[in-house]
Amino acid sequence: MASVRRQIPLRVSLMWAKFSTSGFQKGFGGGCYSQNASISSDQSVGKLLEEEHVVDVGLVDSNNEVAKIREKFDLAKKRFLKIPDALEKMPKTNPKGIYVNKNLRLDSIQVYGFDYDYTLAHYSSSLQNLIYDMAKQHLVNELKYPDGCLASKYDQSFPVRGLYYDKIKGCLLKLDFFGSIEPDGCYFGRRKLCRKEIEELYGTRHIGRDQARELVGLMDFFCFSEVCLIADIVQYFVDAKLEFDASYVYQDVRRAIQHVHRSGLVHRGILADPDKYLVKNGQLLSFLKMLRENGKKLFLLTNSPYYFVDGGMRYMLEDSLGGDSWRELFEVVIAKANKPDFYTSEHPFRCYDIKKDNLAFHKVDKFLPDKVYYHGCLKSFLQITKWNGPEVIYFGDHLFSDLRGPSKAGWRTAAIIHELEHEIKIQNEDGYRFAQAKFHIIQELLGKLHSTVSSKYTCDPCKSLLGELNEERQNARRTMRNMFNESFGATFLTDTGQESAFAYHIHQYADVYTSKPENFMFYQPEAWLHVPYDIKIMPHHLKFRLLEPETGRSGKRAPKTLVKTDPCEALK
Ligand SMILES: [Mg+2]
Repeated sequence: MASVRRQIPLRVSLMWAKFSTSGFQKGFGGGCYSQNASISSDQSVGKLLEEEHVVDVGLVDSNNEVAKIREKFDLAKKRFLKIPDALEKMPKTNPKGIYVNKNLRLDSIQVYGFDYDYTLAHYSSSLQNLIYDMAKQHLVNELKYPDGCLASKYDQSFPVRGLYYDKIKGCLLKLDFFGSIEPDGCYFGRRKLCRKEIEELYGTRHIGRDQARELVGLMDFFCFSEVCLIADIVQYFVDAKLEFDASYVYQDVRRAIQHVHRSGLVHRGILADPDKYLVKNGQLLSFLKMLRENGKKLFLLTNSPYYFVDGGMRYMLEDSLGGDSWRELFEVVIAKANKPDFYTSEHPFRCYDIKKDNLAFHKVDKFLPDKVYYHGCLKSFLQITKWNGPEVIYFGDHLFSDLRGPSKAGWRTAAIIHELEHEIKIQNEDGYRFAQAKFHIIQELLGKLHSTVSSKYTCDPCKSLLGELNEERQNARRTMRNMFNESFGATFLTDTGQESAFAYHIHQYADVYTSKPENFMFYQPEAWLHVPYDIKIMPHHLKFRLLEPETGRSGKRAPKTLVKTDPCEALK
């Protein structure tokens, strides 16, 4: 797990190397803050601390240590006043890149499968409003929730993907990579709980096995409306001083959300006003056509009904299709597949009659390209198509319906996470990088203070320094978090720049991940996609890299040098 914690910082280690040997010598303002916050800060602190020696705790003159750390902190604060110009020159992460968890050879992929909703289909943010309002109406009109619940409105600034709902305690939680509650990521209704309240409720911030059983993951794109509605209903009961069981709120909201999908309400709503909800996408058509031209086979596997998919595909691609049918792109089209049961059940396929809107009675033992099939299961699918697992890649947005099932079945998987593009753009911003670097520097100074000054030593200068460092660290965290989402921060990151539990699941089930399928157009169709070389599996597994040669005053380039990528090295 520690490997992934270091994945993002280490990705730019080569570029950092340039700054580590030249820019850093200029001090804090001389270009040492990099995109690679943990490395840069580690190295910055390393510079700060380079004259330090291993301290014999028994001989520590605490006053002296506090004074030294204070001096470094004051120096750092002066540098915090201005973002270094050098930040602009640091490499940026590609918002439309494909990121690789497991090596993938595209030349060995012969079959491309796609989910529809939020994979092929791009929706506007108005859709979450629509789902929220429809589900809210269902709660009041059908499940007899108080009329007062109708007053709440969808708030797109509140939810992020990948949260958990505690069915017993009624809290929405954001967990980190290790399953601990984020200090600022626990809400009861719309009220954020403080650390003390979290500890009173959960004992520690780490979620144990027993507590984990009561959590439900809210992982797909439709969960945005669900998260917001759960929080608003809980808040309504709290404000109205009504007794309620948190598990019923979840069950009822879940039921209402499922109703708007299964009844076709939301599908009809989208098709009635596609301009409002769907995003036209000529690039998607180019990508699908490119695959066909390269001899790849395509299939569509979705839980949505065919009329909805057909209407959406026509709308999204109509400007680019030029009279052709989108159907010609796909060898097999399967709708109402009932994923994730599709991967484990033995349901038979049924041929769907588009004109009559009914299912045929004959047995399905082959797939015809001009037909549509409903239901079915993976076992029959593989028997009919004879497509082998590793030659198939499946694109989807849902962790469990689109990624876990196919991954276990031996297909390769590509996670489509629309938020990724936006979040990478934020991570590329100078303000974010600067705050991240500040955070790590403060973190290191705090670590130094705690490790060298006895906790029993509570002189005023020490208490004052500790308070200031904590406040500065909290400010940096808040700055980073608010750049994403004021309530829960980023989808993939915790407030401290480490990976979230959602990132862990993506790492677990997706071979590759990107923001849109058409991002694959920026890569050769036969490309080999490799895991970045500098990802570590365990902290003690050090990797080596070549430093880029520096250009000296003479204009000659020095030879490349082998160095360890472990950021802690900089502290030694
Ligand atoms: Mg989907």
